[in-house]
Amino acid sequence: MTEKEDQLLYQHGTLGALVPGLFAGTQTLTELLQHGDTGIGTLDGLDGELIILAGQVYQVAASGQVHLIADTDAAKVPFANVHHAAFETVGQVVADTQDAFANVVLKLLGTRNLFAAVRLHGTFGQVTTRAVAKQVPPYPTLTETAADQAVFTRKNVTGTLLGYYSPQLYAGMATPSFHLHFLSDAHDLGGHVLALGQIAGALETQLFSDLQLHLPTENSAFLQEDLDGDLLGEIAQAEH
Ligand SMILES: [Zn+2]
Repeated sequence: MTEKEDQLLYQHGTLGALVPGLFAGTQTLTELLQHGDTGIGTLDGLDGELIILAGQVYQVAASGQVHLIADTDAAKVPFANVHHAAFETVGQVVADTQDAFANVVLKLLGTRNLFAAVRLHGTFGQVTTRAVAKQVPPYPTLTETAADQAVFTRKNVTGTLLGYYSPQLYAGMATPSFHLHFLSDAHDLGGHVLALGQIAGALETQLFSDLQLHLPTENSAFLQEDLDGDLLGEIAQAEH
């Protein structure tokens, strides 16, 4: 890995395109993994939540089950972020709530104006996640899928938190602030993080100087959709 590569955050798709329901997978996991071994995303039809650790892609389905995806040629993502892991170990972090954790991380990053990856392995007094159920065409809007998501809450879990910080300025392309996914060590809990309690663990961060935004050039629904409206309010509603 070159020095340049470890400062590059790669994104396939744009968050704004999910708002009106552009959920079709437009890039294979095989291609996505060429751009990083670590990341988060979702599958075709918003079929669960993805967490990618050391090149292994785990899908947390709405059933709550965690699947390791073996056939990366067949599985496609409408939206995902990956990067080549080259984390800096920051040290032990303790926080009572997800907001407190976010504040600690931001202080340690020393800026709100760069994209960054965050990974923390540790113990969690409480973890609440969600996983969206696979949607089928004609797709609903992103906010409508909230009615079709499973929410999981577990106390005293050991696992890995992985995600990205995106500056507010780029809302529409990426989830503003932190977008975190979780996978328990036992692989019996995971998903998109809604709430955390009593976090204690080893924090690692990676700042990016470069962002590669890769958009689907062959998907006619994406090409024809009107994305010029005010999508930001809907993103805020759907992502929190
Ligand atoms: Zn997510």
